[in-house]
Amino acid sequence: MTGAAGFVGAVVTRRLLDLGHRVLAVDAGDDPRHHRARAALVEADWVRADLLTIDLVELLDGVDAVVHLAGRPGVQTSWGHGFDDHLAGNPLLTQRLLEAALVTRPRRLVVASSSSVYGDIPDGLAAEDHPLRPLSPYGVSKLAVEALLHAYVARGVDAVALRFFTVFGRGQRPDMALHRMIDAALGGPPFPMRGDGRQARDVTHVDDVAAAIVAALAAPVRPGTAVNIGAGRPVSVTDLIERVEAHLLCSVPIVPLTEASGDPSRTAADTRLARRLLGWVPRVGLAEGIADQIEHHVRGDAMFLPTTRADR
Ligand code: NAD
Repeated sequence: MTGAAGFVGAVVTRRLLDLGHRVLAVDAGDDPRHHRARAALVEADWVRADLLTIDLVELLDGVDAVVHLAGRPGVQTSWGHGFDDHLAGNPLLTQRLLEAALVTRPRRLVVASSSSVYGDIPDGLAAEDHPLRPLSPYGVSKLAVEALLHAYVARGVDAVALRFFTVFGRGQRPDMALHRMIDAALGGPPFPMRGDGRQARDVTHVDDVAAAIVAALAAPVRPGTAVNIGAGRPVSVTDLIERVEAHLLCSVPIVPLTEASGDPSRTAADTRLARRLLGWVPRVGLAEGIADQIEHHVRGDAMFLPTTRADR
């Protein structure tokens, strides 16, 4: 498991451990949230190392399957010189891992991609054959990750990509919108809002994402396939703010931002392929998922307590 101390990685690691798997958990992260993840997941075998520099053939030796979540997320940071980090953290890191897989031949790699590969989805739900026109350098870096999978699949590596649509739930990254809205409502910095609040995101609960990753490790999926993992339920920024306000009974202060962003006006996943190939359907409702995230946010560090229906 790469990126095991990150937002999605920690939840997936917990799930794999609970299912009785031995988890080699790799993450270079050194923030308090990474330390909390390591402390909450002591049963994993932790390797604190930079995947861009360590010997990956040695690391993958004897590993049955790989969940590759380490990467450089975030749309805004990918502009300008930030792209260097996104290139290194996404395609370059993935290429190093795939090279090692050529040698050690894990049974399967499940690799994190993103709805950002689509760009805007102005109406309807995007199936996997929807045009891929990323609006940000981050989206381009994830598209390059997917293209790399094809190159290595042609050489016999078994790798599949999952296109996550905006993940939310306990432990969400502090730079993400819902986390910032909750923070703002609780007295933190005002929520920085681009546009008029009508932009819509298909938000997907982290427990559902974890279930999809676990399913993808074993499902009979043709190597090189990319599968949407989303709720098929776009929700506007304004709607999210109102839900946070209603839950916490206080307002979310806003500071308007005007600069260009690379954020699509709307994302929405057609998940019929995930249902067919992985037997996966999203289970956590929006209200339940937001309540879960707020409760864990307010409690501070209890991010791994299972509270949603998908976890029980
Ligand atoms: P995250 O930043 O919380 O987790 C990524 C982890 O990878 C971090 O803990 C980081 O320390 C680790 N990492 C990064 N580079 C590393 C390196 N060189 N060596 C070792 N560890 C390294 O991000 P997340 O939100 O959990 O996202 C996980 C993956 O899913 C990422 O690839 C991201 O691009 C993708 N994704 C996330 C979302 C979302 O909404 N969170 C949506 C689409 C795709």
